[in-house]
Amino acid sequence: SHNKYDKEKGVNVQVLVRCRPMNEDEMRLHTPVVISCNEGRREVAAVQSIANKQIDRTFVFDKVFGPNSQQKELYDQAVSPIVYEVLEGYNCTIFAYGQTGTGKTYTMEGGAIKKNGEFPTDAGVIPRAVKQIFDILEAQSAEYSMKVTFLELYNEEITDLLAPEETTKFVDEKSKKPIALMEDGKGGVLVRGLEEEIVCTANEIYKILEKGSAKRRTAETLLNKQSSRSHSIFSITIHIKECTPEGEEMIKCGKLNLVDLAGSENISRSGAREGRAREAGEINKSLLTLGRTINALVEHSGHVPYRDSKLTRLLRDSLGGKTKTCIIATVSPSIHCLEETLSTLDYAHRAK
Ligand code: ADP
Ligand code: MG
Repeated sequence: SHNKYDKEKGVNVQVLVRCRPMNEDEMRLHTPVVISCNEGRREVAAVQSIANKQIDRTFVFDKVFGPNSQQKELYDQAVSPIVYEVLEGYNCTIFAYGQTGTGKTYTMEGGAIKKNGEFPTDAGVIPRAVKQIFDILEAQSAEYSMKVTFLELYNEEITDLLAPEETTKFVDEKSKKPIALMEDGKGGVLVRGLEEEIVCTANEIYKILEKGSAKRRTAETLLNKQSSRSHSIFSITIHIKECTPEGEEMIKCGKLNLVDLAGSENISRSGAREGRAREAGEINKSLLTLGRTINALVEHSGHVPYRDSKLTRLLRDSLGGKTKTCIIATVSPSIHCLEETLSTLDYAHRAK
């Protein structure tokens, strides 16, 4: 079974927390800060005391990044080692998980790359990973091929962010059916109708990213903040040609998935308000199943519920087995977000 395989190989899940700084409005309004980060001790503390109501909880994670942490720092410490694993042939996934407005997209995408290819200091995980991959491959003068996909998952439906403009949303133009998932018989899945772009340079990927994110932003304004309820998955698959000492040719294949998850407030709300549970259920199915899947892998407990959501089906070949997973949980320092922050910290801590 897959479970036995996981036990033999060991499961590798790293969980880190990043707290964003106070924004201008919060500063102007002198919003109380209730989250403190101790990076050295890898601790996040949530403290609030109003009259007779006391909250004082401390969580320990694999890494903690406080409000002053820079994009490069987070990248170098948490992501860069994973990129080396991808080039060694691992399937790896980095998730940004947290309440809307806490910095998931800032962390994953960050500031846009300049026209001349220069990075702004706030460039996020995705462009930095792309650059590192090309830098390493070029330094090794490796022979390689690379392809990327970029998709969005909303209400358990897939939208291809790389499909040409004229293609109807949610629909595979050739069959006029929603883009569908099919098992490939080798533990992975195939997405019927999904664009795969073969890429040769980092610049090509930056352009693809820009196109995909623009499409996501348009959808957001058209469909009423859809992005807070949708997951975006950017995947790079790399095949590297290698020669054994005997002169035999070998192809090593690794994959990096960079996932900007739906706002985690969707989970807590469905739990809180029963009447809306069904509607929220579809939105949440993927987030909840992801949590359960990672728990099952971390705890080596019997059944891993990959099949229960499209997100986990899509990432099946990158969760469990010879894979690495990193969850970046993003939180706000503000008192007004405390309840959501606590549920984010709980979710993230359970994944450890
Ligand atoms: P999310 O994707 O989780 O909804 P965003 O990434 O859109 O949140 O972040 C919300 C706002 O906060 C954006 O204006 C973003 O630039 C800002 N922000 C988030 N995290 C940070 C950070 N670590 N440093 C500076 N600004 C941040
Ligand atoms: Mg976002």
